Amino acid sequence: MTIDVDADNGQYKGIQKLTYTNNSPDVLDRVFYHLYFNAFQPGSEMDVRSRTIVDPDSRVKDRISKLTPAEIGFIKPLSLTQDGVVLTYEVVGTVLEVKLAKPIMPGESTVFDMTWDAQVPSQIRRSGRNNKEGVAYSMTQWYPKLAEYDFQGWHADPYIAREFHGVWGDFDVTINMDKEYVIGGTGYLQEDSKTRRGKKSWHFVAPNVHDFTWAADKDYIHDTYDGPNGVTLHFYYKNDPAILENWKKLQPLTAELLAYFNEHIGDYPYKQYSVIQGGDGGMEYAMSTLITGNRKLGSLVGVTAHEMAHSWFQFLLATNEGRHEWMDEGFTSYISNLAMDKVMNENSKNPNASSYRSNANLAISGKGVPATTHADRYESNRVYGTTAYSKGCVFIAQLGYIIGEDNLKKTIKQYYKDWAFKHPTPNDFIRVAEKVSGLELDWYLLDFMYTNGFVDYAVKEVINEDLKSIITLERIGLVPMPIDVSVEFNDGSVMNYYIPLQMMRGEKPTAAGEIRSVIGDWAWAYPTYTFEVVAGKPIRKVTIDPSLRMADVQRENNTLSK
Ligand SMILES: [Zn+2]
Repeated sequence: MTIDVDADNGQYKGIQKLTYTNNSPDVLDRVFYHLYFNAFQPGSEMDVRSRTIVDPDSRVKDRISKLTPAEIGFIKPLSLTQDGVVLTYEVVGTVLEVKLAKPIMPGESTVFDMTWDAQVPSQIRRSGRNNKEGVAYSMTQWYPKLAEYDFQGWHADPYIAREFHGVWGDFDVTINMDKEYVIGGTGYLQEDSKTRRGKKSWHFVAPNVHDFTWAADKDYIHDTYDGPNGVTLHFYYKNDPAILENWKKLQPLTAELLAYFNEHIGDYPYKQYSVIQGGDGGMEYAMSTLITGNRKLGSLVGVTAHEMAHSWFQFLLATNEGRHEWMDEGFTSYISNLAMDKVMNENSKNPNASSYRSNANLAISGKGVPATTHADRYESNRVYGTTAYSKGCVFIAQLGYIIGEDNLKKTIKQYYKDWAFKHPTPNDFIRVAEKVSGLELDWYLLDFMYTNGFVDYAVKEVINEDLKSIITLERIGLVPMPIDVSVEFNDGSVMNYYIPLQMMRGEKPTAAGEIRSVIGDWAWAYPTYTFEVVAGKPIRKVTIDPSLRMADVQRENNTLSK
C-alpha cells in the first residue's frame, strides 16, 4: 500500500495491491473488505450502538452523532480490479461487498488493485486525529482490510467499536507525509525511506502480520532499547516534561515483560516491538501498541504488559475475537497479571484476585450470559467486559487449580507451539490441556464458559465423634469441580484431602511440597459428599479450596468452624 497524507485536513489517498490466496477448500465467488473509518459517521451502527447501549463507553457516547463533514471518518473506494478486470462493489456501512469477476478456486491466488480516498475521524476511539494527549494521528484500522474466510465462512462483521479478526499477510507500506512528522508503527522501517519536496516517504515492511498500524506526531521522542533475543524495543512519546521520567523507567521493564512472555508462552517471532503514545487507552496492534501516556508508573507498565501480552493471543494465535473474545482478553489478562506481579515485585497471593471478584459478582447478579455470545451483541459493556476479561482470565487461572499449575504452564506453551498462526478455537485449547494433563476437560469448557452456571461449593456439616469426624460437603452451583479441602484440628495440625471429579477420569498431580490424601471420586449428580477423618482428635475448621483458585462465587460457605 502507498498512501499520501494531507496532514492539514486529515485526508489521504491510497493505493493497495493485494495478492490473496484462497487457502480454503471452497470456491469463493465474492469477497468482503472492512472499511472501519465509515463507523465514524452520524447514524452509523457504531454511533447508534454507542447511544443506545445501557452503559455507554464514556469515550464515545453521542460524539459520533455530532461530527461535522470535516470531522467524520470515511474510506471511499474509487476503483477496484481483480487481475486487471473491473469489479462491481457496494459499500454497506463499514463493509465493502465485492462480486468477483472470476471465482477463486481452492489453492489459487488472485490480485486485487484498489484506490481509495479517506478521512481520519476527529473523534478518537482507538484511531483518529488529535487525541486528548495531543498525539496528532492514531492510525488504526485505517485501510480497506480484507475480511477473514475460514471454516465458519466469511467474518465480515460490521464495526461497532469492538473486536477484530484478520488475514495474515506480508505488508509493504509506504506513507508519504509532511516531513515534520515522526512515524512509529507496525513493521521495519526500510533504508530507502527519504524526503522529497517537503514530504518524507516512510517505507515499512511487516512479514506475516494480520494488521498494520501507525501513529504520527511532530513532537515524538523516539528511543530504542535492546530487549531479549535480539528484539529492539521502540518507544514513541510526546516531549512532555510531565511524562518523560516514567517513559524512561518503562523501557527496561518492557524488556523484562517481553522476557517473561517469551519464557511462559513462547518466543516472540519478530525483531521489533513498539510502545507508542496515542489512541484512547490501550490497544494492541501488530508488533506494537498504542497507549495513552500520561499515567502513573504502575498504570503505564500495566497497560504495556497487557497490550504486549496480546501479541501472543490476539496476533500470533489470533482466535476470532468476535466469537471468542474471552480467549483473547481473558488469557491476556491472566498472563499479564502474572508478569506485572513479577516485574513490579508485588508478590500477591493471587495476582488474578480482582478477576475472580468480578466474575463472582456477575454470577451473583444473575446477569451473566454464556460466553458464546458474540462480542458485539452483549446487553451491556459491563457484561461483555466481565465475561471477556474477568471470566476469561478466571477460566485459565482456574484451570491451574483443576489440572495443577505445572500442567497449566505446559499447556500454555504447547498451545502456542501447536496453534500459532492458525486461529485456534476454544476446543483446540481445551484439547491441548487434555493431552498435556491426561484428564478429561470438555465439561469445563462447556459448563463454565457456555452456560450461565457457576461454581458454588459449601461445607455443610462437620460432626466430631470420639475417634473420628464426619464431614459433609455440598455442591450448590451447577458447575462441578474437583475439590481440595483442608481439615484443621484443635491442636493446630492440618490435613489436606483431594476429592477427584469423576468425569475427569483422573487426578491432578500432587504439587511440589504438597502433602495430601486422595479420597473417593465425587460424581456430578450427587449434591452432597460425605467422608470420614479418623484422627483421634476433634476438628476445628474445614475449608474448601484454601488456595482461592477455584472460582467459588460464595466463599463464606467454603469454611465451617466448630
Ligand atoms: Zn486487552
